[in-house]
Amino acid sequence: MNMPARPPKLKVARTVADLRAAVAGWRTAGERVALVPTMGALHAGHLSLIEMGKGLADRTVATIFVNPAQFAPHEDFDAYPRGEDRDAALLADVGCDLLFAPNAREMYPEGFATTVSVATGVSEPLEGVSRPHFFGGVATVVAKLLIQAGPDVAIFGEKDYQQLLVIKRMARDLDLPVEIVGAPTTRESDGLALSSRNAYLTPEERAAARALPAAMRYAVAALREGGEVVAVEGVVMASLVGAGFGKIDYVEVRDGATLERLGPGPVSSGARVFVAAWMGGTRLIDNWAV
Ligand code: AMP
Repeated sequence: MNMPARPPKLKVARTVADLRAAVAGWRTAGERVALVPTMGALHAGHLSLIEMGKGLADRTVATIFVNPAQFAPHEDFDAYPRGEDRDAALLADVGCDLLFAPNAREMYPEGFATTVSVATGVSEPLEGVSRPHFFGGVATVVAKLLIQAGPDVAIFGEKDYQQLLVIKRMARDLDLPVEIVGAPTTRESDGLALSSRNAYLTPEERAAARALPAAMRYAVAALREGGEVVAVEGVVMASLVGAGFGKIDYVEVRDGATLERLGPGPVSSGARVFVAAWMGGTRLIDNWAV
């Protein structure tokens, strides 16, 4: 009798030593290794990064660590969705080779005192203003993960475009021997970017949130047609407020490479629209290339 095929159980490393041993074994066999850092609560966006890793390397390691250092005390660290068993099953299904899921003590042992700070133009605006603690926490934990795993390539989503730029700069400045690769944003059918935080939205809020990708689409089209940055930003902001978004942290058109502010007039090339806005108690971010 044919039994239904069960996905192989995913190997899980809890310690840096176990992670390094697994990677060393692959390296000895001449295999390339890709790393995909996440905070878990995995969705199709995360899995697309694993798929990309499989295309770029022989072995793909996912990490799950809800990093306390990148949450401010008033933010959602405690509420952040967690479900390792479900995540591990999803990773096994897509053919991930190893999950590194350390606890906080493994990542931040007693007396941990080092912070990686990327003090440059790309970390200052946007999230750098709204969440001043954020990039220090991200750069520190990602530097650790890259040093711990020693991958050939690490993949990060363009969903968090500014984070991708900050990590690229960090890896370059610290001479980390890894290629940082960006992956396109996976979206719902109405255009809303997949995010673990979308789980916080009520059905009504989720329906209203479709105004965000709609506003982004409008902005991209208007800017391509020569619209003035200041006018387009104003329309986007008004349409978000009209759709029920509460606080708007930012709606800004910036250069996609340097994150320098563009406008107030029309843009030429390389522009990107960045938005962070609150739908009820949920903070949503998105960015689109013009
Ligand atoms: P997170 O677990 O939210 O920290 O995200 C882990 C990685 O997945 C980051 O590199 C994110 O940019 C990426 N990511 C999150 N959402 C998406 C998405 N919708 N599409 C593609 N990548 C994503």
